[in-house]
Amino acid sequence: MVNSKEPKRRVAFILVDGVGDVSLPKFGFKTPMQVANVPNLDAIASAGINGLMDPVEVGLGCGSDTAHLSLLGYDLRIYYRGRGAFESMGIGLAMALGDIAFKVRTIFSAVTMLKSNLATLDESSGVVTSRGQTGILKKKDLFFVQHWMDSSCLLFLNMKLESGMPWSIVKQRIRLQLLMSYRKKYPAFLVGHPVNARRVAEGKNIANVVLLRGCGIRIEVPPFEKIHGLRPCMVAPTKIIAGLGLSLGIDILGAPGATGDYRTLLTSKADAIARALSAPSKSCPNVFVPGEDEHKPGRPNGYDFGFLHIKAIDDAGHDKASVFKAKGLEAVDKAIGQLTKLLWQAEAAGEFQYYICVTGVHSTPVEYGDHSFEPVPFTLCRLKDFIGAVGGDSHLSNIPLDPFPLPTVESGGDLAHADRSQEEKQGLAFNGDKVFEFNEIAAARGILGRFTGSEMMGIIKAHLKLS
Ligand SMILES: [Zn+2]
Repeated sequence: MVNSKEPKRRVAFILVDGVGDVSLPKFGFKTPMQVANVPNLDAIASAGINGLMDPVEVGLGCGSDTAHLSLLGYDLRIYYRGRGAFESMGIGLAMALGDIAFKVRTIFSAVTMLKSNLATLDESSGVVTSRGQTGILKKKDLFFVQHWMDSSCLLFLNMKLESGMPWSIVKQRIRLQLLMSYRKKYPAFLVGHPVNARRVAEGKNIANVVLLRGCGIRIEVPPFEKIHGLRPCMVAPTKIIAGLGLSLGIDILGAPGATGDYRTLLTSKADAIARALSAPSKSCPNVFVPGEDEHKPGRPNGYDFGFLHIKAIDDAGHDKASVFKAKGLEAVDKAIGQLTKLLWQAEAAGEFQYYICVTGVHSTPVEYGDHSFEPVPFTLCRLKDFIGAVGGDSHLSNIPLDPFPLPTVESGGDLAHADRSQEEKQGLAFNGDKVFEFNEIAAARGILGRFTGSEMMGIIKAHLKLS
């Protein structure tokens, strides 16, 4: 049992989206994680306990939303109700229980050229003849579209659903009803849109329909804090993850400059999590509220479970950028070094004792360019043991806290230390099990063995109590 006079235990949970990969011939049949120079991640593995995790179940490749739910202790078969609501809440739209939302990604993308949900419908046959039109929508269009969709009840519906109806059937019915009711309203908006005017000028066909994806209902679940007894916060600029966190009652921290893509400032994320886990001795960051322009103050006494989501590594996997993925992992390692420094400074005050946990939510191998079923490495250690594994406080004094950009290595570029791909890392574990490096291969030798994501929170909580 935890003695009440002991420092309160708090966890920094770093989720590296898409971290897992497979052995690559160009890296001497090692994974990007194995060839990356990640001394801080290796020290966490060396200082703690390790294992391989199947986020949902063995052999199942999954999406980020389902895998996150599983990791955070929610049974998908009971709670999952589509991703649309997560996306909508993540972009700032308030949703009540029972509201339905669809994913219409391009509409809400301010400046980035993306695969679009805009498509061309042949009115005579009712068949979509082409899809995936691309176009850049300006920010002023977004508000218009949001309003337009809102007033057309496309985004918000409080459906009276028959209880017990399977979700797959519910989705089909909702989509069908919406398409039947609102199909005629799309062309009036879309045909006159500047994107289409440009396409006409370029001799291309026009988009006259919006395809609806990811039907999702605002889920009703017990809050994370009630299930786990830990006050949770999250830094997740990626909208679907932020929306998922909000659905579970997790406060979403503001982190200036954190973007959820390659332009992100990892230092800002580390700083926000460190402050949230250090409060009240440091001021807690403000938190995001869907439907409101202003952020509200975070909990004055801080949080016990700080979830730091990193998306860029998953993007590198989707972009099939093997060298960038390895370089990106090195940047993640650097930010984790900054986080450990900030938390160790806070731990010195004596009120809190910190733990660091790092894992992924699914593999995104660069060879496939998509999510796959390979398990992800999992590591968890006490911050004090991490300090021991890196050789003491002096290691931290060499870590600058300045923000830094992610590397800009293009796919096919060289890895400066490519020779490391032929080397074996040598070392002894500092504490915990025999694992002394963080990667997919080494983690298999960890004391936790191979486990599923639904067991993860139990492992973390048990470790907090036991160690
Ligand atoms: Zn992905």
